[in-house]
Amino acid sequence: MSVPDISPTSPDYLFDSVPAPAEIRSVCEGIQWIRLPLPFALDHVNCWLLGEPGEQVLVDTGVATSKSRALWQQHWGAKGADGLASVPEKLLVTHFHPDHAGLAGWFGEAGSQLYGSAVEIALSRSIWSRDDSEYAQEYARWYAENGIPEEAISQVLQKPNSYRLIVSEPPAAELWTCLEAGQVVELGGAQYRVLVGRGHAPDMLMLYRESDHVLIAADQILPRISPNVSVSTVLADQNPLQSFLDTLDELKVLPEDTLVLPSHGIPFRGLHARIGALQAHHEDRLAEVYQACRQPASAYDMFSVLFARKLDAQQMSFALGESLAHLHFLEHQGSLTRQSCDGVDQFVQVEQETKLDK
Ligand SMILES: [Zn+2]
Repeated sequence: MSVPDISPTSPDYLFDSVPAPAEIRSVCEGIQWIRLPLPFALDHVNCWLLGEPGEQVLVDTGVATSKSRALWQQHWGAKGADGLASVPEKLLVTHFHPDHAGLAGWFGEAGSQLYGSAVEIALSRSIWSRDDSEYAQEYARWYAENGIPEEAISQVLQKPNSYRLIVSEPPAAELWTCLEAGQVVELGGAQYRVLVGRGHAPDMLMLYRESDHVLIAADQILPRISPNVSVSTVLADQNPLQSFLDTLDELKVLPEDTLVLPSHGIPFRGLHARIGALQAHHEDRLAEVYQACRQPASAYDMFSVLFARKLDAQQMSFALGESLAHLHFLEHQGSLTRQSCDGVDQFVQVEQETKLDK
């Protein structure tokens, strides 16, 4: 999931159209593209099918809705109303977000061998297991601490565990083969190096095919929008923007002609320019947030700085996470300091704080 839009940098797209929902489109040697609909403002996710029938690996699944299940049944055949007649031999899940991991349990039950990151698998299970009131209370507390208005807090208290609504029960940890950064794995008859992206999710898997420079980039590098980088109630990383920017730096060693297969948008070339644009985007945002903290300000106060449009309930939590990611980055850097005012966290420029104290 990703907000917000940033100005297009016209990457060199491989196609000028996207596949229809039931279409399987060949992207490059041994990799096919399936584009699944999503019931959000970001309306699709890309899944990749590696290898040939008999040795196929699906990368990511879409959310657990009847629409996604029906589309997968068109590819692999239906068994009963809700099952699959056949399956890809392997399923690799890049990270815990619902649009990527939503149907891991469903594919696992139907017989796919499961591949993922130990951290992401544990996170998916722990979020899925939270009961509704625990989940709502946690969000309400987080909203209140960050200055979100009472009306939005009472709305969030009515909400069930939204993760469980669009994710089928995540398979138990022992059912997965876990992959780690640096490992080389054979998937669908080709060798891929496992890379890990941090900041969008804690330990997101990416795959790099050295032989012909293909990067399955998950949500680390998207061609048109800036991947969501959020502080969250469920994540341990309190400075995810630093982690995200560090990962971008690490990816600069890949060759300029790398074909990037992003989880949202169209496959493209122009990796280094895109990394530069994402870095510049965050630098601009950090400067704006820093300026806005001349007076003590909450994360909610940053919404008008960072987001031009009105936010719906789902976007509210992304916006809060994204605002905090920028505030925490500046706090860790020593430019901002945090104080509590009537139970609300406020951030202020370090120099201004010294002046205000005098
Ligand atoms: Zn994601």
